[in-house]
Amino acid sequence: MTGEVMTEFRADLHCHSTCSDGTETPEQLVTHAKEIGLSGLSITDHDCINAYHLALPVAQSLGIRLIPGVEFSSSFYGKSIHILGYNYSPESSAVQKLCEMHETRRKERNLEIVNKLRENDIIIDLEEVMEAGEHTIGRPHIAQAMVQKGYVKDINEAFKRWIGDGRPCYAKGSPVSTEETVSVIHEAGGAAVIAHPHLIKERATVKQLLTLPFDGIECYYARLLPHQEEEWVKLAQKYDLYITGGSDFHGSVKPETPLGASWVNEETFNKLVNHESS
Ligand code: AMP
Ligand code: ZN
Ligand code: FE
Ligand code: FE
Repeated sequence: MTGEVMTEFRADLHCHSTCSDGTETPEQLVTHAKEIGLSGLSITDHDCINAYHLALPVAQSLGIRLIPGVEFSSSFYGKSIHILGYNYSPESSAVQKLCEMHETRRKERNLEIVNKLRENDIIIDLEEVMEAGEHTIGRPHIAQAMVQKGYVKDINEAFKRWIGDGRPCYAKGSPVSTEETVSVIHEAGGAAVIAHPHLIKERATVKQLLTLPFDGIECYYARLLPHQEEEWVKLAQKYDLYITGGSDFHGSVKPETPLGASWVNEETFNKLVNHESS
């Protein structure tokens, strides 16, 4: 057989870089995507949009289609909800302001967490933690420092015993509402998507979320079984929403989830690229 090998179009729409709690730089992520045969990618860092500009020149030179992405933390009736934003304008001052707001919120909250840890004789130097990462610093970075200092055996133990939701050193901080977050993504011309809905404890919350003007649901996700994904696909179809998907790759801190473990086809990718906020 001669001729070009036909490869299926696959785009991973959910991954994290060193701009938040991933271990690969934006440039490395794009190179990695090329190596494993992906055709499209969206880097969705927590509360930070800086990866796009860093990754774009590499994506263009390697022929990877890259769309702006982000994963915003938000609060919905006291519950923590992650919202993916796609194909918004990275120059939008509304999105940039929201990222700045999160940076301030996180600084205050990280200090609160470190102070609570100190009360429990766990001494973590926040300055050191800040140096370990770029842009978005959160609980994964604090957990990593706790491992390095020998207070816990791994990141999971840090969350389970100390800093996970509702644990003794957890701090909520002052979150941004889900409504406001969706509205900022729309103002920037982007599509707002409910991230990993299966991680939302109560199904009733998902139904309530769907009363907001979301554009899509993340239906394909690493380690979800096909019949579980199908359930979310049906819900998205019922509400006439985009059916998105991605791995939620974090690099070596979460080795069980490889890049490209979940993906969308060209048709879905193009729908997001052509999305216009109504
Ligand atoms: P934060 O954004 O600072 O509230 O931290 C939440 C992030 O921590 C999540 O997005 C996950 O990436 C990570 N995380 C949450 N629980 C765990 C856990 N048990 N082990 C490792 N990472 C976790
Ligand atoms: Zn993360
Ligand atoms: Fe998430
Ligand atoms: Fe994520």
